[in-house]
Amino acid sequence: MTDYEVVIGLETHIQLNTTTKIFCACKADSWFDPPNTNICPVCTGLPGVLPVLNRAVVEKGVLLAAAMHAEIQPVSYFDRKNYFYPDLPKGYQISQYDRPLARGGYLDVPMPSGAVRRVTIHKLHLEEDAGKTKNEYGRRLIDFNRCGVPLVEMVTGPDLRSADEAAQYLIRLRQLLRWIGISEADMEKAHLRCDANVSLRPTGATYLNPKTEIKNVNSIVAVREAITKEVERQTKEYEAGNRIQAWTLEWDEDSGVLRKMRSKETEADYRYFRDPDLLPLVISSEWKSQILSNLPELPLERKARFVLSYSLPEYDADILTGERSLSEYTEAAVKAYGGDPKRISNWLMNDVLRMLNDKGIMAGQLRLTPQYLAEIVRLVDSNAINNSTGKALLEKVENSGRAPSEIVQAEGLAKVSDADAIRIACAEVLAESPEQVAAYKGGKATLIGWFVGGVMKKMRGKADPQMTRTLLEEMLE
Ligand code: ZN
Ligand code: MN
Repeated sequence: MTDYEVVIGLETHIQLNTTTKIFCACKADSWFDPPNTNICPVCTGLPGVLPVLNRAVVEKGVLLAAAMHAEIQPVSYFDRKNYFYPDLPKGYQISQYDRPLARGGYLDVPMPSGAVRRVTIHKLHLEEDAGKTKNEYGRRLIDFNRCGVPLVEMVTGPDLRSADEAAQYLIRLRQLLRWIGISEADMEKAHLRCDANVSLRPTGATYLNPKTEIKNVNSIVAVREAITKEVERQTKEYEAGNRIQAWTLEWDEDSGVLRKMRSKETEADYRYFRDPDLLPLVISSEWKSQILSNLPELPLERKARFVLSYSLPEYDADILTGERSLSEYTEAAVKAYGGDPKRISNWLMNDVLRMLNDKGIMAGQLRLTPQYLAEIVRLVDSNAINNSTGKALLEKVENSGRAPSEIVQAEGLAKVSDADAIRIACAEVLAESPEQVAAYKGGKATLIGWFVGGVMKKMRGKADPQMTRTLLEEMLE
C-alpha cells in the first residue's frame, strides 16, 4: 500500500479594522447592528456613484504585507470580479487581480513538534466584502451591511501537511494580525475567514493532485475537524482506486459533515477587468516608509530575543509573547526588576496570567503595573515579606492601584523577623499541643512542619518561616 502525504493550502480573508468601509464612508464593522443599517448608494451599487479608496485600508494592507515579508508593489490596480449573486448588488466585486498590492511573502509557523514550517503566500490583495444572505421563515433575507467592508485576501502555497498544521498557521496568523493592530481577527465574528484546499499525493511526490475546497470553516476547531474528515474521505477514495473530483465542499459545523456545494468554477468565469472608476494605487517610497515606521518587532522575533537576551526558556518566551501587550508588560517588568528575568517570568506565568484571565483584560490594562510587579518580587527576594504575602499583594495592588510598599506599611504585612515575637508565639503553640510535643519527642520529627504552621497561623502568615523553625527546634530540645 502506498503512503500518502496530505497537501493543504489555506485561503484567508481578513477584515481590516478600519472605521469606515473601503470605498465609502459607511461604518465598517456592523456586527452589533441591525441588517441594512450601514449602507449607502456606493456600497449598494446604485447607478452614477463613484468609489473613493479609503487610505487607512491601504496602510493596514501595507503593514500586513511587510509583516508577511511580502514585496509591496509601487503600483497596483483594482479590478472587477464579475458574478451574479443576491448578496452582490453591483454584480461585481471590486478586487485586485493580476496586479495585487504585494507579491510573495511567508509566515514562519512553529509547529508542536518544535520544527518551524515556512508557509508561503503567492500574493496579497485588497478587496471589498459582499453582503450576507440567510434563510428564515421560508424566505431568503439579504443584509448589505457587509458590502464594501475592507478585506485582505491571502492564499498560502500547498505548504501545510496536516489539519493540525493548518490550525497552527491560523493561530499564528491571528496572533500576527492582532499584534500589528490591523484586525480583531475574531473568527467567530468573521474577521478572519478561511477556506481550505485539500489533496493527497504519494509521499515524496512533487506534483499536485486535484484538490477539494472546503468552505465555511469559521473557527480553529472547525478547521481541524473539517480537514481531518476530508483527508479520511480522500484516503478511502484513493485506496478504492477512485479519482478525486475538484469539488467545493461546505462544512456544516452543527452536524460535523461536509456537503458537496458544486463542481468548482474556474477563474475565467469571473471575466476580470480593470475597474474604470478607480485610479491605479501608487505607493510612493515616502508613504511606504511612513507606514512601515509603525511596524513593531514581530512576535517570533520578540520571542527569539526574550530567549537570547533574557535567557528565558522557549516555553516561557512563547507564552509571554502570545500577545503584544503581554510581551511589552513582560519586558517592562524584567527591566524594572533588574534581577534574573526567570523570576519575573514565573510570577507572570503563575499569577499574573491567571489574573488577566479571571478579569478578562489585557496586560496593558492592569493597575498592577510592571514596576509594581517588580517591586513585589523584590520585597519577597529581600525577605521583607514572605511568598504568600507577595501573592496576596498582587490582588491588593490590582484592586487599589496603590504601590506595594504603601500597602505593606499600611496593613503591617512586613514579615516579622523579631525573634522575641516569634518565640512567644512558638511557646504558645507548644503549650497548647502537649500531645504533639510528646509525639515529637518520641521521634516523630515530621511534626515540626505542623508546629511551624501553628505559629504562622497565630502570626497571620507574617512570621519568617526559617526563623520559626529554628526557634521551635531549639525550644523542643
Ligand atoms: Zn456605503
Ligand atoms: Mn476574495
